[in-house]
Amino acid sequence: MHEVCVLGAGPAGASAAAELERLGIDYVLIDKAQFPRSKPCGGVLPWRVVEELRLPQEVMERPLKGYRIFSPSLEKVESRFPSQGAAVRRSTFDAFLLRSLKQEPRQAKVTSVKEGDDCVELIAGKRRVRARYLIAADGANSVARRSLGIAYGKLALACQYHVALPGEVIAERIGEWFEVYYFFSYGYGWLTPLRSAVKVGIGGLGSAFSRRALDAFIKTSPIAEKLAGGKIVRYEAHRIPMQGPSPTLATKRVLFAGDAGGFVFPGTGEGIYYAIRSGKAAAQAVAKAMQGEPLTEAYKRETHKAGLLSLREVNFLEDTLASPHEAERYVRRLKKLARGFQ
Ligand SMILES: Cc1cc2nc3c(=O)[nH]c(=O)nc-3n(C[C@H](O)[C@H](O)[C@H](O)COP(=O)(O)OP(=O)(O)OC[C@H]3O[C@@H](n4cnc5c(N)ncnc54)[C@H](O)[C@@H]3O)c2cc1C
Repeated sequence: MHEVCVLGAGPAGASAAAELERLGIDYVLIDKAQFPRSKPCGGVLPWRVVEELRLPQEVMERPLKGYRIFSPSLEKVESRFPSQGAAVRRSTFDAFLLRSLKQEPRQAKVTSVKEGDDCVELIAGKRRVRARYLIAADGANSVARRSLGIAYGKLALACQYHVALPGEVIAERIGEWFEVYYFFSYGYGWLTPLRSAVKVGIGGLGSAFSRRALDAFIKTSPIAEKLAGGKIVRYEAHRIPMQGPSPTLATKRVLFAGDAGGFVFPGTGEGIYYAIRSGKAAAQAVAKAMQGEPLTEAYKRETHKAGLLSLREVNFLEDTLASPHEAERYVRRLKKLARGFQ
């Protein structure tokens, strides 16, 4: 019996565990994977994550200046981060987040979660784990949500290839920019430059986002030129919750953080920063619940305080990227704005 069980040791779980340690609360951290493990992800960290974590150089694959955005007709606009962002490999980044914890994640696949009056019970491999509270940070395919019958809203599908290329070729063709291609309705394509590989992916709402569509995307110009001579070394795909934080963020004893709670920017699928923030808020809410406050109220307040609930107000994919025409207009507007700042 533990005070808290944290399910999932990605950015949300690692951040929740770190905050529980800081607050002196007993917890157990469980993940089905052995770390370092990979996670399908563009691996783009905005400047605020780099700054807040004081990200060491060795974790960065490449520093990033910001976004380079392309419209369907290849109008281009560069949007700089206020300070340096970074492209990372999730295997290295997630292991870095776990490095500062006093305990390693226990490796077990959780197959069911039951909530009782006094505790939560998980089946983790062959064991039963009981805890007073559960922070469910088990991602976009959360077993905790499934077990408790809490469905996700809209889920996007994102898929990507890793394409091996020499570092100097990547520096010349892409440089230190995360490239975004608004070539699709309700979604987009991207290139993330790493040290010696480029991640090329597409993601969005609806059945148009598939490996076949990714194969077509990498043959289009200018993607084909940027990846010329490269070798595909990996394919991966994963869901992304796209409706913002779920209406049910907590029950009596269970809180949902990170992707499991829908804490993703619905316009871009960016989730790492929000996973870290919501993991921390979940731990703080548990501390309040231990002092007698209802868990749901405490978590609502903590997530609101962290500005996370405003993610519900964004509908970028369906408003701005509803058609190539809308995307074209959007990039041209951005370009005008950028000129205004020069
Ligand atoms: C293709 C793609 C590209 C993306 N690009 C970006 C990007 O560039 N920048 C960005 O900020 N975000 C990006 N995202 C979103 C980002 O990856 C997620 O928002 C982020 O990983 C969420 O962190 P998390 O800790 O909530 O979940 P996860 O990172 O998914 O971690 C969940 C953990 O739970 C464990 N787990 C799951 N089920 C079980 C179980 N049954 N038992 C035990 N353990 C379990 C998993 O092993 C995993 O370690 C992208 C997503 C995709 C799919």
